[in-house]
Amino acid sequence: MAELFYEDDADLSIIQGRKVAVIGYGSQGHAHALSLRDSGVDVRVGLKPESKSRAAAEEAGLRVTTAAEAAAEADVIMILVPDPVQADVYEADIAPNLKAGDALFFGHGLNIRYGFIKPPADVDVCMVAPKGPGHLVRRQYEEGRGVPCIVAVEQDATGKAFDLALSYAKGIGGTKAGVIKTTFTEETETDLFGEQAVLCGGTAALVKAGFETLVEAGYQPEIAYFECMHELKLIVDLMYEGGLEKMRWSVSETAEWGDYVTGPRIITDATKAEMKQVLAEIQDGTFANTWIAEYKAGLPKYNEYKKADSDHLLETTGRELRKLMSWVKEA
Ligand code: NAD
Ligand code: MG
Ligand code: MG
Ligand code: MG
Ligand code: MG
Repeated sequence: MAELFYEDDADLSIIQGRKVAVIGYGSQGHAHALSLRDSGVDVRVGLKPESKSRAAAEEAGLRVTTAAEAAAEADVIMILVPDPVQADVYEADIAPNLKAGDALFFGHGLNIRYGFIKPPADVDVCMVAPKGPGHLVRRQYEEGRGVPCIVAVEQDATGKAFDLALSYAKGIGGTKAGVIKTTFTEETETDLFGEQAVLCGGTAALVKAGFETLVEAGYQPEIAYFECMHELKLIVDLMYEGGLEKMRWSVSETAEWGDYVTGPRIITDATKAEMKQVLAEIQDGTFANTWIAEYKAGLPKYNEYKKADSDHLLETTGRELRKLMSWVKEA
């Protein structure tokens, strides 16, 4: 079973005694910087001078400087820029400003797990990753609650890295909900697998295939959209609240019977074999290397895939239908 840590297990004064640099002010960066600040921590935000996020951070009362200056001032450096640019920011701005005993923090383990960033042996290397999007992390903190976090130590140069990471997690509200101990390897590989096989990739492909099957059989796209896409939220909400059990309790017995007999015909042994192959390519670094190469090449295939799905009948139908549903907010 996982090891769990709560409020009493973490000492907030540890992080309050450090100087923290949050590099990046996006989804996670704004939540970490503001909540640490509100927890009495000395925080500065590191951004590119021309960054669009600069005004927002300053308006929120944070001190903003360059990534290099922030890293030089601080002794805890949290890297919350997009994963594919972290290695460049690290080389240019952070590595030259690392001192023995400093701590390098991450919100996701990709760059450490696959060796794109190789920190020196005399710094702590930790991860604090909230299990929710940054805006939820911040909102929960403001409401006096927290989002569960996972915490890991890759390198314990000071012998105190784990207590420091727990203290950081407390500063963003994580220990109010509970903190689970993991490793960079476990977090990175399960995060990539989850988003590819189930959450994003698997679900998007399932929705598209279902929609296409109905439309190709002559049913109206609008009806297919409601059945294969729109109603997914209702089902997922039930699963989120009470597992498969609550979903099956809420749907009709007919739907429940269809779930049991048809689900395994859709996600078959062949699908699971492919999932194992996907996991193997995550574990051996194939996925990470391909993705970073694609990013460095200027995202040619990424843009092609994005455009193809944006023009898909599922999406063009959805854009029109959502206008009829005033309660569905377009993000
Ligand atoms: P984001 O895209 O929302 O924000 C990135 C920020 O970095 C922006 O403020 C951008 O201006 C800044 N930035 C970009 N290039 C920069 C540079 N060269 N120098 C300085 N600043 C630069 O990113 P995010 O989604 O918050 O992701 C940050 C990290 O958190 C990633 O490691 C990600 O895997 C992890 N994470 C994100 C979420 C999430 O909810 N989005 C959840 C868990 C973990
Ligand atoms: Mg994830
Ligand atoms: Mg991820
Ligand atoms: Mg129905
Ligand atoms: Mg039922």
